[in-house]
Parts: sequence; structure tokens; C-alpha cells
Amino acid sequence: MTANPARYVYGPVPSRRLGRSLGVDLVPLKTCSYDCVYCQLGPTSNPTTERREYAPVRDVLSGLHATLASGSAPDYISLAGSGEPTLHSGIGEIIRGIKAMSAVPVAVLTNGSLLWREDVQRDLLQADLVLPSLDAGDEAMFRRVNRPHGGVSFAQVVDGLASFTRQFSGDVWLEVFLLGGLTAEPHEARKIAALVRRIAPTRVQLNTVTRPPADPSARRVGLKALEGLASLFPGDVDVVCEAPWGHAPAGAAPAAIRDDIMAMLARRPCTAADVANGLGVPPNEAIKHLDALVSEGVVGPRVVDGRCYYAAVGGQSAAPPSTEA
Ligand code: SF4
Repeated sequence: MTANPARYVYGPVPSRRLGRSLGVDLVPLKTCSYDCVYCQLGPTSNPTTERREYAPVRDVLSGLHATLASGSAPDYISLAGSGEPTLHSGIGEIIRGIKAMSAVPVAVLTNGSLLWREDVQRDLLQADLVLPSLDAGDEAMFRRVNRPHGGVSFAQVVDGLASFTRQFSGDVWLEVFLLGGLTAEPHEARKIAALVRRIAPTRVQLNTVTRPPADPSARRVGLKALEGLASLFPGDVDVVCEAPWGHAPAGAAPAAIRDDIMAMLARRPCTAADVANGLGVPPNEAIKHLDALVSEGVVGPRVVDGRCYYAAVGGQSAAPPSTEA
């Protein structure tokens, strides 16, 4: 049976960092080399460092071609996913295919864990913009915040970030996701800043928790505190975090999607993954629609057993299950 190629492409969706971003979802939900405490997609269900063709390259490219032909004019085509996109062994071929069909710049959002590998470097050197992450200043904090797969070493990750950035002719915007009580402590942030100096990205982008995290102990850092921490980092530094969920001026969800989501949530609280499966869209797109409904005040998030459920505010939906939904 052939998969629907459109399932791998979503948007364009508004992105604080990338403007109008046409997303490409390269791996199944929570296929990742990390299990970050702050992940908005929930706990990692498939922890791995194995590179595979998780989505058929041909289907990804035909889905993109159809979306671009329908008149979409995004600022970026963003290779991301419901996990770590460099785990897709065909990402280099996909970037080449996009370049052959469109002049829209290609951005890759990656946790950076595989950037030390020559094959991953070769693949990503073809992109226009790479947005990797570095959330810790030493191995112990790395294990606490990013909870990596056993095969990932912190020293290798930092070496890979530095080596890739040296070779890449495009821009590297390094995201540093700071957590209250942990990495937002000035002595921890200084350790990260020292590594950033060595990596020398084009820009540093400081972020923090804005959506319900995989682990409810992951704490948001206030905007003023983030702005203060920015002075510890070298070079051009942006504070890119959005307002916390429920306060963000997100764009309105399209009426048909809004009705579908509200009908689902009227029956029972759902995770973003449930909504994505119900609508047949990637989780990142479902999250954007849920954000809009939370901003309107008609949907509320609630974390139960480490999973974030969305429920209709004032609705009749049952309580979230206390274990696996
Ligand atoms: S935040 Fe990104 S890197 Fe971390 S677990 Fe989620 S998908 Fe993986």
C-alpha cells in the first residue's frame, strides 16, 4: 500500500525563528536519539541512533512538489519531524531533490547528536541553514536534560557541532534551551557559553519551556532572566521563546480543523499525538492548532503521568487516563 505523500508535509505554519515555514516530517513520532525533559512531543517511544529511510524519499519529494505547485510560498522548507530528522538516511537526497525543484531555502532543525558523523555532515552541508541544539555544559547535565541514547557521548556531540560549523558555508543558528533551576543557573549557563565560543555559530538562540513538557519538572525561565543570561553568551544572541501556552497570540486554527479538534476533545481529552492521528496530520501541525485553541481559551492543557492532555474548557470530556491512553 502506498502512503499518502501529503502526510510528510505540513504548513506553511508561522514560526518565530523561520517566518512562514513549510515543514517536512522525516521520522515517525518520537523516533529520536534524545528524550529531552522539555520535549513538547512527549516521551521518546523509539530511542535510537540508527539511520534508516523512515519515510520513502520519493513520497516525501512528491508531497513537497504537490504542496509547492499548489501555490505555497514559504520563507523556508524546514526538515524537522516528530523526532530527530538526521536519523533519516535519505536526508541528503531529500535536500538535493528540494534544490532541484525549488529556490526556497532549506533549513534543518536537528538536535545535533549525529553531526560528528561524516555521512550526516555531508548530507547537511547541502542545506542553507542548520539549527542544532546545545542544552548543557557538561556530560552530567547533558544526561539529565537531554537523556540521550546510550550510544551518544557529550564530547562527541560538541566536537561534531564545532567541526560541522567550521565546514558549513551557510548559517548555523545554535539553539540553547534553558531550564529553571538547572541550566538557567548562571554557573551552568557559563559552561554552555564556553562551549558556544568554541563552536562559533552564526547566532545563538535562547529558548525555554513554552508548551507542556515531557517531564513536568522541566521549568520555564522568565523572559527577564533569559535576557539577563543572554549577556553571558558570545556573538549575536536572540531570545526566541514565545509566551507560555495559553498566553501566546497564536493565529486562529482554520474553521474546519477547529471543529474537528473540538469534536474530538468533547469526547475525551487527547494528547497532541492523538489529535495528529485523528486529523491525519503531523504532530507539529496538531500542536500549532492546539496552541491557537489554547490561546482562545477554549482548550486547556493538563499534564498527567508525564503526558500532556488537551481538554475542552468547560466541556463534558472525561478525565485523562492515568496510564497509557
Ligand atoms: S526536543 Fe527534539 S531532540 Fe529532544 S526529545 Fe524532543 S524531538 Fe528529540
